[in-house]
Amino acid sequence: MTDRYQRFARTGPGKFLVSRLGLPNPVPLRRYRPDQPPLPGPAVVGAAKGGRLEDTVRKVLASAGIEVGDNVERPGALVFDATGIDTVDRLRELYDFFHPRIRGIATNGRVVVLGTTPDGSKESIPQRALEGFTRSVGKELKRGATVQLVYVEPGADDIESTLRFLLSGKSAYVDAQVIRIGQGTSPRPENWLAPLAGKVALVTGASRGIGASIAEVLARDGAHVVALDVPAQGGELSEVANRVGGSTLQLDITAPDAPTKLVSHLTQRHGGVDIVVHNAGITRDKTLAKMTDAHWDAVLAVNLASQLRINDALLVSGLRAGGRIIGVSSIAGIAGNVGQTNYGTSKAGVIGMVNSYAPLLAAHGGTINAVAPGFIETKMTAAVPLFIREAGRRMNSMSQGGLPVDVAETIAWYASPASGAVNGNVVRVCGQSLLGA
Ligand code: NAD
Repeated sequence: MTDRYQRFARTGPGKFLVSRLGLPNPVPLRRYRPDQPPLPGPAVVGAAKGGRLEDTVRKVLASAGIEVGDNVERPGALVFDATGIDTVDRLRELYDFFHPRIRGIATNGRVVVLGTTPDGSKESIPQRALEGFTRSVGKELKRGATVQLVYVEPGADDIESTLRFLLSGKSAYVDAQVIRIGQGTSPRPENWLAPLAGKVALVTGASRGIGASIAEVLARDGAHVVALDVPAQGGELSEVANRVGGSTLQLDITAPDAPTKLVSHLTQRHGGVDIVVHNAGITRDKTLAKMTDAHWDAVLAVNLASQLRINDALLVSGLRAGGRIIGVSSIAGIAGNVGQTNYGTSKAGVIGMVNSYAPLLAAHGGTINAVAPGFIETKMTAAVPLFIREAGRRMNSMSQGGLPVDVAETIAWYASPASGAVNGNVVRVCGQSLLGA
């Protein structure tokens, strides 16, 4: 799980070779720490004329303790409200704001552009154009800096939890994403350090890897975590549950009676569940011609079919009002991958699950979203052959793999009661991977 190249690139000879040969230069990413300010410097806020979100942005930054300045030499963030841009000519206001400032952005700095969700009308063409701008800026930014585009529906302004996430180390490996904020307001948490206080969170596949990290981060944010995994993983599962002060549930999610068992466990022991993270997933790689029926069936069962059955059971009973369902897709579900027809199908199906259930969850006062991780440093990726592993690590704008915590932080943002206006999103945690971009 170690990135030897990254460590070498930080040594004297490493720095010399990296700069002389133009090799990838993965800087250490600045991840969230409660004792550190959210950003590596003050933010600069700008707006196109007629923008409707600038005041809200300033209020959010003040409440998050982020200093805002005008003539900042090394801004920790550049935030631009582009909602006022209503003609193609006025896209120039975007250029005018960023052109003189982008070079100065701090190491691990953040760029956020806010737009209005395009509706396909002629008037929304300049708003749609913002996507090309932000994705290109993402490819130009160096030294761990990231950029995101946040589309906010007309009339909506519930952007606080999203801005707090993006303008912090919690989004260290999320880059060049388009996030959509809908109507609806969410309660502000009493304590932003424990937004999940009093909530019950189910995390499947929680005994190791990304699932264990999700359990840790949700518990850090105040949730009681019910850590689920197959009985064979019972020992590791108990360790994780003990570490996070949670409880365990040993269950194979593909068993025919799994949804019933799950619902009765959650309702009887915990009075219901608020957050469900479908993290359990498997790979059984072979090219399509060589793939066995069993490998196809197993991957589709764990990664997709079982999750739909669990959702349906929980929507009938168990999922409390305002509940959150969170899927774990993959860039293989977006870009496809050799030897992964089964996995790619299942992970694209997870995106379909988000699209299809979003209105159902909204009717329940809740949300459903997914993360799509890219190359994450886990036991799974450590087993990938060296050459493919190195390609996966470097072929992204951060020139390095992400960590399980990067996926977990994104899930915690979806899980927050303050994210009630974030519904139906699939956000990649991939450092702007070149695959399927
Ligand atoms: P992992 O193999 O380390 O962990 C998966 C866990 O799911 C294991 O503990 C396993 O026992 C559990 N599980 C498998 N089948 C189960 C079943 N039938 N019932 C209950 N639990 C079951 O994998 P990981 O790398 O931590 O990946 C976690 C998720 O992230 C998966 O959905 C994976 O597809 C996805 N993902 C990972 C990466 C990556 O780079 N590691 C990239 C994209 C997506």
